[in-house]
Amino acid sequence: MTDEVIGRSVQGRPITLARIGDPGAPRKILAVGCIHGNEPAGRGIVADLIGASPAPDAQLLLVRDMNPDGFAHHQRTNAHGVDLNRNSPEHWAGAGARPWSEPEARAIRDLILREQPTLSLYYHQPFGLVDVPEGGRPEAARRYSELVGLPLKRLSRRPGSISRWQNVRVRPGSAFVVELAPGPLPADLRLRHVAAVLAA
Ligand SMILES: [Zn+2]
Repeated sequence: MTDEVIGRSVQGRPITLARIGDPGAPRKILAVGCIHGNEPAGRGIVADLIGASPAPDAQLLLVRDMNPDGFAHHQRTNAHGVDLNRNSPEHWAGAGARPWSEPEARAIRDLILREQPTLSLYYHQPFGLVDVPEGGRPEAARRYSELVGLPLKRLSRRPGSISRWQNVRVRPGSAFVVELAPGPLPADLRLRHVAAVLAA
């Protein structure tokens, strides 16, 4: 495992990437545990994945906290009050001074452009579903939803979301959102999510 600081938050907290598995493996699976600081249940899944063993042809790119300031302050937005999942240029609707205005959003953008992940998962709360990707093929999201026992549904469009930007502009069908149920994630469910990421 290697750790790398890929950026810093508005208040200077590091945003850290943990790379698990063979760094030359062709399949790259990105998992982001927490974008909205008051939706923290996915952090436990990503923390567990740090100790996991991916398939030989896969490596895990793990970002437990994309919004460390928001998590520290129990708030959805970053310290500028900007929703980081509305700050991409894909149908941007005014979150932040301009698209990619926020350092946390730029950190994940630069990681994605550099690594071109095969698959990216973003954990949110509280809707209890797996969102259908807005571009490309839904197979990976469908398989994940079956493995963890969450319904596959399409959320309303999220202007400026990171996953939408990826699906439209970077790699169609490669990114999806997992909406966990509200509150803490029970340990047995957490392990199902860990297994589903490893099976992706
Ligand atoms: Zn969210």
